[in-house]
Amino acid sequence: MIVNNSLDELKKRESALKIIRSIVENEGRSSLYDVTGLSGGFISSEEELDLLETYVGPAIFEDELQVVAKEHLGGEKALAVNRTSSGILASILSLVKEGEHVSHFLAQYPAHPSIPRSCNIVGADYDEYIDLNEFKIEDNTSLVVVTGSTMDHQVIDEDTFKEVIDMAHDKDIPVLVDDASGARLRTAVFNQKRACDLGADLVVTSTDKLMPGPRGGLMAGKEELIDKVKVKANQFGLEAQPPLILAMVNGIKNYSEDNLINAISRKDKFYDMVSKDYEMFEKTPTGVMVTEDALKKQVDALDIETELSEKDLSFLWAMILLKDEGIITIPAVGMPGASATVRFDLSTQDVIDMNLGILHDKVDDSFNKFFRQLSRCGKV
Ligand SMILES: *Cc1c(COP(=O)(O)O)cnc(C)c1O
Repeated sequence: MIVNNSLDELKKRESALKIIRSIVENEGRSSLYDVTGLSGGFISSEEELDLLETYVGPAIFEDELQVVAKEHLGGEKALAVNRTSSGILASILSLVKEGEHVSHFLAQYPAHPSIPRSCNIVGADYDEYIDLNEFKIEDNTSLVVVTGSTMDHQVIDEDTFKEVIDMAHDKDIPVLVDDASGARLRTAVFNQKRACDLGADLVVTSTDKLMPGPRGGLMAGKEELIDKVKVKANQFGLEAQPPLILAMVNGIKNYSEDNLINAISRKDKFYDMVSKDYEMFEKTPTGVMVTEDALKKQVDALDIETELSEKDLSFLWAMILLKDEGIITIPAVGMPGASATVRFDLSTQDVIDMNLGILHDKVDDSFNKFFRQLSRCGKV
């Protein structure tokens, strides 16, 4: 194994960022193709940047954020935090005590690690479920979490979603929805309702997933709960700072469902192209992906023996995609604990108009190189 723990993942991320920097310096930004679906955009005008002072900034942009956030997410009040993970941590810090229980329902494993990690910090018990028939709410449960769309873009069924919310509310337990990408994927592509409109008490979304905003977390929900979460966020410095809030406001204003809807038909075409030679690809709502499991099966099918773990294989292929083809995927640049699935999101700005044949050849070339490296190291 090459990557064993969070520190190794951090080092891997640092190497990937070095490669990105060298590509930008030597070949220019246009030689990079970010297909992560995370844009980290920072739309802003000169006048707006001039207002970015510690107290003037929040006075202007927090007010504007209330308006656009409530339009985007529903709910009574909004709160901007540093990341989705920060919003999850602040919620669990404020609503869950030691010895209490958190139940989490999601469409498919794995859950985002910030949820169990936050429960661990407060000393709460934690369970996750993907089957409604098995879903349980213990008596000492103080929070139910629902993931609207997983890191791999597996979207929850809307009826199941409502049922889980009803089960929690029957016991007077608040529901927090991790709608990091779901706030847009569920609504734009699956025509589902916003989490707050389905009855969720709190929702958090990531302002750089499938929208032109910065990496940040945007929360909305019942005013009373948002206030509690806000106090904790302020106590621990988890809240978003004025520059982030400014870019969030403009990111939401510039979000349109068109790119997502456009990607749906392109992904079917791209899936057919890559599936001529490979068995490992699966469709996602707005692109294709290769899970670590499927990559390992593909490697096994080619009769290569390797001592690398499934995760290492994903990381290695993602690094070759980046270094040789300029294609940025999450296993190369993700934070520790991020999914090792190699996902190609076709709704992103860099590839929205790209010829799919060219993209196909890049993916194919990188896999051949990956294959040659493995055969050189392994016992064939
Ligand atoms: C991306 C993601 C998160 C975390 O977002 P950060 O900005 O990295 O904190 C949490 N949950 C889900 C389902 C995600 O996809």
